[in-house]
Amino acid sequence: NKIIKEIKVNNVEIKLVSGDITIEETDAIVNAANSQLQHGGGVAGAILRKGGPDIQKESNEYIKKYGKVETGNVALTAGGKLKCKYIIHAVGPIWEGGNQQEEKLLYDAVFNSLKKAEELKLNSLALPAISAGIYGYPIEKAVPVYKKAVSDFINTNPQFLKEIRFVIYGKDHLDYFLKEF
Ligand code: ADP
Repeated sequence: NKIIKEIKVNNVEIKLVSGDITIEETDAIVNAANSQLQHGGGVAGAILRKGGPDIQKESNEYIKKYGKVETGNVALTAGGKLKCKYIIHAVGPIWEGGNQQEEKLLYDAVFNSLKKAEELKLNSLALPAISAGIYGYPIEKAVPVYKKAVSDFINTNPQFLKEIRFVIYGKDHLDYFLKEF
């Protein structure tokens, strides 16, 4: 994967990376999951194919134990065969036109992912463009929300999480990230 841009804010590095999140070597990666943690298409499908069936198995056990993951919340599994130790499964909102609290729910999905990584004392985390694929959140509206969540998180003075990567899949999304960051 290719680092396109690096920004340092209060000792935390934000990196815009172009490529495939499944090959990242950060301590954890974030999955754009659904509430049932059924990893079929999009980035979830790619994670499952490369990480192996244990990820789905562990996800099913999570659902059995705790019930479905509310939109804006996260669940945790191990990384399976991926390089990362953990996968943080974040449930972003489905875009329904903007009046269904989509912005707050997307903010929560990103902020809670970062918070979970910090709780686990991780140093690095990679995130995809949550909700901006199958869930239809317009990328030009999503990127400012990602930025706000990251910036608010950094203002909480994290002790452990010092590298936050956005792994951007495809050229058209990249332009929006470069414009915003
Ligand atoms: P959602 O259902 O939350 O919209 P998707 O998986 O459909 O989730 O898409 C989220 C984002 O992940 C999209 O921008 C999509 O282009 C991107 N994506 C798909 N595959 C990968 C991958 N292997 N690595 C990084 N990003 C990916």
